[in-house]
Amino acid sequence: MKRIPAIAFTIVFLLFCLPSKPAYPKELNIDEKINSIVKEILPELISLRRDIHAHAELSLQEKRTSALVADRFKALGLEVRTGIGGMGILGILRGGKPGPVVGLRADMDALPITEDTGLPFASKERAIREGKEFGVMHACGHDIHTTVLLGVASVLARLKSDVSGTVLFVAQPAEEHGDGARRMLEEGIFKDIKPAAMFAVHVDDTAPAGIVKYVPGYALANVDSFSLAIFSEGCHGANAHLCVDPIVVGAQVVVSLQVMVARQLYVHRDTVITVGSFHAGSASNIIPERADLRATIRTYGDDQRRLVREKIERTIANVCGAAGARNSLDYAFGTPAMYNDPDLTKEVVTIAERVIGKANVVQDLPDMGGEDFSFFAREVPSVLLNLGIQPKGATATLHSPYFVADEAGIPVGIRVMSAVILDALTRPESKLKPSPPKR
Ligand SMILES: [Zn+2]
Ligand SMILES: [Zn+2]
Repeated sequence: MKRIPAIAFTIVFLLFCLPSKPAYPKELNIDEKINSIVKEILPELISLRRDIHAHAELSLQEKRTSALVADRFKALGLEVRTGIGGMGILGILRGGKPGPVVGLRADMDALPITEDTGLPFASKERAIREGKEFGVMHACGHDIHTTVLLGVASVLARLKSDVSGTVLFVAQPAEEHGDGARRMLEEGIFKDIKPAAMFAVHVDDTAPAGIVKYVPGYALANVDSFSLAIFSEGCHGANAHLCVDPIVVGAQVVVSLQVMVARQLYVHRDTVITVGSFHAGSASNIIPERADLRATIRTYGDDQRRLVREKIERTIANVCGAAGARNSLDYAFGTPAMYNDPDLTKEVVTIAERVIGKANVVQDLPDMGGEDFSFFAREVPSVLLNLGIQPKGATATLHSPYFVADEAGIPVGIRVMSAVILDALTRPESKLKPSPPKR
């Protein structure tokens, strides 16, 4: 009788020591599933990226890259539409469950820069423009963006049964041209299937691989420009009273525009005017017949871009008028400012923090650069994330012939964007449209 408590204790002790769960592998959560697929497909994706990098193509000439993307999409079982806005591709993945439609976009074009990175897969592509030969290089990381797009498409095609809704994979031409996205929209990319939200990444040359940055609200600027010609009769430099001096008038225009920004615009409405080109004259003693100025104008919001245009036109008219100089001004609105929907950004940040850890998801300041993903963001609420790819100790920036991207950023982009899209699809469409796109 006395032995019974001892036996019972031993049995309880042994039961306690047994593993609490059966010994078969536990069900992976969605992030783990994505992770294991990414690990499996990464070597192939890296060689694809190097292939795209080595065969860089200029804006509106992305024939090879576009064909490669279309082939990959077809191999993944996506419905593929080609030739949208030039070389644009739309890949449609219909998930295993019903749900909303969301989109992921990447740009495919490279730049007229001769690569000098010394990488084994450096681009040797050449092109001729205006009679001049130069190299073609992926110096803005669009090869990385395309690879992330292909990676996310591969992951979500494998997880089709977990995809509740439809995913549009958009491979866009001519971002550096500033109008590839606009061309795709004008050619009706979304005419019969419109996403409720769009996402994209752009490489960030200030952050190492493993980091993702975000900017809620306005992240990148309106990219507008003007060309100004100031005319004169021309005369001897020793008799300046006999004609208008277009160089002096042009110099006054340059300075007046800077004063206008400092004194006539609200300080909290960021505005930059840079006259980056000023050409006139052929000799020290001749007042030339014309001066040509070209400028870029960066602002946020349609109201500010209109206001600044009015003030620039007024300033130029009055400075030239005061000197009696005829002029011709050609003003153009380029890509609109990139606006990250704040509510959608919050959701994206929550998912990114879950996937790569809170410390690796960093809020950044807005930038006065431009990005034509903004055309999509004017159609539907969108978020553009900045993807860290800066190699250790590297200083070369985007658009430099020495620019190198750390490929370790690629799996980070794929993991984050796959999770972001799956999450967006689980939310009702009404929640995907927190506010109308801002202009
Ligand atoms: Zn660029
Ligand atoms: Zn770019």
